[in-house]
Amino acid sequence: MLEVSNVVHKYGRVTALSDVSLSAAKGEFLTILGSSGSGKTTMLRVISGLETPYSVNRLRIGGEDVVGLPAAKRNCTTVFQNYALFPHMNVIENVAYGLRIRGRTAQDSTAEAKRALEMVQLGAKADRSIGQLSGGERQRVALARAVVTRPAILLLDEPLGALDERLRQDMQLELMELQRKLGMTFIYITHSQEEALTMSDRVVLMKHGRIEQSGAPLDLFDRPVTRFAADFMGYENILDGKLLRKDGEIGEVELVGGAVVRGTLATSDIQPGGAINLAIRAERIGPVAADEDGLDATLSNRVYRGKYTDMMVETKAGTLRLRSWHGAPNEKGAISRVGWKLSDAVIFPEHKG
Ligand code: ADP
Ligand code: MG
Repeated sequence: MLEVSNVVHKYGRVTALSDVSLSAAKGEFLTILGSSGSGKTTMLRVISGLETPYSVNRLRIGGEDVVGLPAAKRNCTTVFQNYALFPHMNVIENVAYGLRIRGRTAQDSTAEAKRALEMVQLGAKADRSIGQLSGGERQRVALARAVVTRPAILLLDEPLGALDERLRQDMQLELMELQRKLGMTFIYITHSQEEALTMSDRVVLMKHGRIEQSGAPLDLFDRPVTRFAADFMGYENILDGKLLRKDGEIGEVELVGGAVVRGTLATSDIQPGGAINLAIRAERIGPVAADEDGLDATLSNRVYRGKYTDMMVETKAGTLRLRSWHGAPNEKGAISRVGWKLSDAVIFPEHKG
């Protein structure tokens, strides 16, 4: 459905995209995830035709080569964070507009706009003016307006960014349902890993205009392949060391400080002797018995965070963070050794620089 290969884009001396390739299948929900400035919006603008790339090898939408084709001629529509609704038109006029300019009759356009509004649960507010709507309702109108012309691909640039947390979570579910109902390809931009993991079939993680890692949400969550990806996906503990030996997927590593522990290799492209990082989530580390795999540890600090408690422990490999949802011991001596399931400790090569 969407095929982009080797896009380079520069704004003056700033390289916003360096050799990015991605593709999406029909009906796929693809999320482009990355921090501010990583090139997400530029990527969408190149796809939609709002930006002419510095160079591109291939850019196809629905099998059609769209390189050089103006934005209005491309079979895709963009939903922006700021909605970009027409303030002088009411709700249904906003939604019908795209059909009207494509030459559809007034009656036909209104009927179809009505259906699109019902799809986003705004059927009852068709005659309201835009000023009478809440932020969430405006976002729904923008969605209805975007899908009413049935583009092959819907491009969404942080569409929920302006909404408060509760509404955002509701809208995430609604968007997923809408996408499934329509069977449309969605290319969705966000800087929120939680949003990306919730909504997507596949996630592309970007860093400084390049793709750092892409895969199913669970791949990124459980098997980050670089320190940046692990950090971005919320791994609290990332330790340095070197790989001693491999046994299938399992790696034995010597951490800085000398302790030897084990974990799971995220890629096969690490060799014994190579510098690695070992990453573990705070909630996946816990106290273990003296004879079990792990690290000797002493409790140095605890922070009550309402839903859970974070504990710091000191080990030969440095300070580790543990998280408990079931309360935490008070006495310093309460923890003497910590460990983890092998599948929860991810080993990947350390990249210098
Ligand atoms: P994101 O959407 O991930 O925040 P952008 O694609 O907007 O990232 O920006 C990528 C890089 O390109 C950033 O360094 C940004 O400052 C730069 N950039 C974006 N738009 C322009 C522009 N119109 N002129 C100059 N630089 C820009
Ligand atoms: Mg952006």
